[in-house]
Amino acid sequence: MTTVKGRRGFWIDGEFAEPRSTGEIEIYNASTGAPIAVVPEASDADLDAAVSAARRAFDHSGWPGWSAERRRQAMLSLADALEARAEDTAQAVSVQNGMPISLSRRTEAVVPASLLRYYSELVTDPEDEERRPSSRGTTTVIRREPIGVVAAITPWNYPQSLAFFKIAPLLAAGCTVVLKPSPETVLDSYILADAIAASDIPAGVLNIVAGGREIGAQLVAHPGVDKVAFTGSTAAGRMIGEACGRLIRPVTLELGGKSAAVILDDADLEPALQDFFAATLMNNGQTCHLGTRVLAPQHRYRETVDLLTDFARSLQVGDALAASTQIGPLASRAQQRRVRAHIERGIAEGGRVTTGGAEAAGFESGWFVLPTIFDNVANSDTIAREEIFGPVLVVIPYEGEDDAVAMANDSEYGLGGSVWTSDVQRGLDIARRIRTGSLGINHFAIDMASPFGGIKLSGLGRELGPEGLTAYQQTKSIYLRS
Ligand code: NAD
Repeated sequence: MTTVKGRRGFWIDGEFAEPRSTGEIEIYNASTGAPIAVVPEASDADLDAAVSAARRAFDHSGWPGWSAERRRQAMLSLADALEARAEDTAQAVSVQNGMPISLSRRTEAVVPASLLRYYSELVTDPEDEERRPSSRGTTTVIRREPIGVVAAITPWNYPQSLAFFKIAPLLAAGCTVVLKPSPETVLDSYILADAIAASDIPAGVLNIVAGGREIGAQLVAHPGVDKVAFTGSTAAGRMIGEACGRLIRPVTLELGGKSAAVILDDADLEPALQDFFAATLMNNGQTCHLGTRVLAPQHRYRETVDLLTDFARSLQVGDALAASTQIGPLASRAQQRRVRAHIERGIAEGGRVTTGGAEAAGFESGWFVLPTIFDNVANSDTIAREEIFGPVLVVIPYEGEDDAVAMANDSEYGLGGSVWTSDVQRGLDIARRIRTGSLGINHFAIDMASPFGGIKLSGLGRELGPEGLTAYQQTKSIYLRS
């Protein structure tokens, strides 16, 4: 990959700093399994340098006190610089994690700049304070101040979009950040560094160090960090939450899911299959909010299984960079192994594979798993309870609406979900009864102006919308008395 040449360092304090480490991360092409680049892995010393830069930029550069207009312009300059590199970003992401390029062009190439533009409209001046009458007849000045230095830790599935779920609001709030991308997807972070270099964001405000979970854990607990914003697995989120609990350090956790796609008895699914695909299988099943538990009315169960089986067979599986690909490979060999193990366990527990399965015939190189549909599954089976993070759907029958709602809620997770119906009002009534962070009627599409996040094991806190900005602010009350 040409993107790596001459960029052997970490983006720290406005420049590519020479690594203080000798550690390396090997990057692969998910579609072929071939190694494509070697990049440095951060050591404690690299991390210290990045956090120190973010700390200095927050404490001494004046950045948190910038006027709204100046901050807005700096954010817009970064949006422009990212848009100028949009196709490079899309390609880099798809090569590394297997995301179909058509999806990468709609998400990774454009979401970061869109988020910067959205949050640039929410920036306020530091002097914009609320004067609130106090309960004692005096006045209280209420300030929203930036929370400080943020540790942003991201996964590989949407590496740029999910980084900007954090970066866009934290810049709007006046914070600084150390971003630690996932070791599977480092190359796109070099393109991000180029964009930062071409923008008016001051040195030290945005820093990037690549590394695995050890450096992630060091970053979470680093004394120079004021807040942790994490997206990733529930297992890692639990450890990060524990560490932040000990430190009384604010933390946002966007974790895993096992959401329900509830098909009501009046649904006409066939014309909606493209939307159903986006809500259940997008990004090769490697999307946190997907409705991978498909709940179908008993009397339409066989019909639903047959429809989804035919649909899964019709999907174009192939190289992530091919424009026609709908299902690309998984992001890593380890991920492929995990998904195959889930499928084998599902079969061992009595589930029946109607299409797909653990073997991906015809795809011997690369980390493919064919779109897989299971029937004969109960909601209590392991395959219906654990997040698989691959293109695997289980179809479970229900008897009546109350049973459907109870089953949708019978999960340790609560992140996304969808309801499919020809009666939107009926869908809304069902959606109100499902315990989850977000839900779509007849589709699922994250909206950057609306809060997104999970309940139960799916996480803590919200990203996106105005709520996503308050996550990077502290309120301060100043009680006036003359
Ligand atoms: P992961 O938890 O293994 O890794 C995510 C990131 O955390 C990586 O950068 C990793 O290096 C780092 N990390 C891992 N352990 C850590 C620790 N103990 N301390 C600090 N950092 C640590 O997850 P993954 O396999 O990269 O991503 C897949 C998971 O992410 C899935 O479970 C998926 O549901 C979840 N996810 C959630 C959302 C959401 O918004 N809720 C979005 C995308 C992905």
